[in-house]
Amino acid sequence: MRLLIIEDEKSLAEAMSQILTNAHYMVDLCFDGESGLELALTGIHDAIIIDLMLPKRSGFSVLEELRAEGLSTPVILLTARTNTSDKVRGLDSGADDYLTKPFTMAELMARIRALSRRRSVLVPATVLVAGNLELDMSTLCIQTPKQSYRLTLKEAQLLELFILNNNSTLDVQTLIDRIWGYDSEATGRHVQVYVSFLRKKLSLVDTSVRIETVRGIGYRLETHDSAPPEPASKEKIKQELKDV
Ligand code: CA
Repeated sequence: MRLLIIEDEKSLAEAMSQILTNAHYMVDLCFDGESGLELALTGIHDAIIIDLMLPKRSGFSVLEELRAEGLSTPVILLTARTNTSDKVRGLDSGADDYLTKPFTMAELMARIRALSRRRSVLVPATVLVAGNLELDMSTLCIQTPKQSYRLTLKEAQLLELFILNNNSTLDVQTLIDRIWGYDSEATGRHVQVYVSFLRKKLSLVDTSVRIETVRGIGYRLETHDSAPPEPASKEKIKQELKDV
């Protein structure tokens, strides 16, 4: 289970991260609202903990933007205030729960466990669509009108990220940060290998969706209406040059 904590009090954020990591959660940390929102929008987290008072973008604003973008990841709000209007606004904006500071780590863990239990019941399966391809993140299956195939978790997370950024180039470092985590030891080679796994599986379901390599930068998901033209052979190019 991967968690995102958006909290600018670094000592608190790091203490939460440490305890959750010891409990075998994967944890990403962000210390301001803008980078927190960006990371949250990748959709790779199972729950997000958001502090209300944040630099660059408030916790409310992050939450509202996430829901406006259709992200249904459970959110716990952290608030230093006992003000009930904040709690009401938070719940109205789509938060699933809130914790008032100071809270104990045991309380935080209990809330996260409760959310993850509820998630499978309350949150509908997330199906993403690109061209004639559907990706169901609850089953990790890709499907076209003709066939379906099950991906591994990493492949599904990678494809999800590509679909959410359809037609935009994702650079290799962004892919590493978002799929493997900021502090991972993954390299461009890992990305290359997983992209090649993913391409093989996409070819099995006869989809118009392709992952193109953007030389020197990264990769981009493209939806083609038909098969791409065969790359021109050297002979053909030579012939064309002669013709000119
Ligand atoms: Ca704060």
